[in-house]
Amino acid sequence: MDDAATEPNAPPTDGMGHATEKPPVGQADVAAGLAEVRAAIARAAEDNERDPAEIQLVAISKTVPAEGILPALEAGQRVFGENYVQESTAKWPALRDRYPDVELHLVGPLQSNKAREAVALFDVIHTLDRLSLAAALAKEIARSGRTPKLLIQVNTGAEPQKGGVLPDQLATLLAECRDTHGLAIQGLMCIPPAEDPPSAHFALLARLAKEHNLPILSMGMSADFPAAIQLGATHVRVGTAIFGARKPKG
Ligand SMILES: *Cc1c(COP(=O)(O)O)cnc(C)c1O
Repeated sequence: MDDAATEPNAPPTDGMGHATEKPPVGQADVAAGLAEVRAAIARAAEDNERDPAEIQLVAISKTVPAEGILPALEAGQRVFGENYVQESTAKWPALRDRYPDVELHLVGPLQSNKAREAVALFDVIHTLDRLSLAAALAKEIARSGRTPKLLIQVNTGAEPQKGGVLPDQLATLLAECRDTHGLAIQGLMCIPPAEDPPSAHFALLARLAKEHNLPILSMGMSADFPAAIQLGATHVRVGTAIFGARKPKG
């Protein structure tokens, strides 16, 4: 007999007794969520004999209004990730005036015509995945003198609707970024297919990063960041577990 049968009103858990259901954005206890996620990162690091200090928590604040982000800033979180350039441009300059040491990561798809705004705002861009975008970024970097760290997104599940370069085209894109555009790529990022167990995708990304000598591995979200840490993640991107459940896209 399973727990659900004996406790019909118990919230769903992650199998370790931690509740996984989150109240909606705006009602979540952000400081508590953040503390839980930090503790879970430390546990996963220790379980795998890694130094927790080498794992960066990128708090994904997409769709969360500024007043919902403030509790995370007040609790000391300084590294945030966003999906949309326009939303970030509206939200972050004012927050940054108050917290100048914020580090901002772009984790959503980037259109070449938004390269200027992206280079102006973000410190790390996780989603470089094609040569035309590399060209646009290189031009903006040269023009502005700003040098965000750049990661290549890899479409490890070869999903047609998803961004990212296919694994067998990564070597070519890396060489072109370097040789044609003079761009130094620092790491790789992936979003495993929702229906797959994520570990095989994390392992593939880790192997590709090692093969190409890239130090940054951006992988793992609310549902699977401990598995990503086990397989070498240096940056985990966690939203829901901190800020609450976002509205499903309409
Ligand atoms: C939304 C998003 C996340 C965070 O997902 P959660 O499941 O809310 O933790 C991480 N990475 C990317 C690329 C995202 O779009």
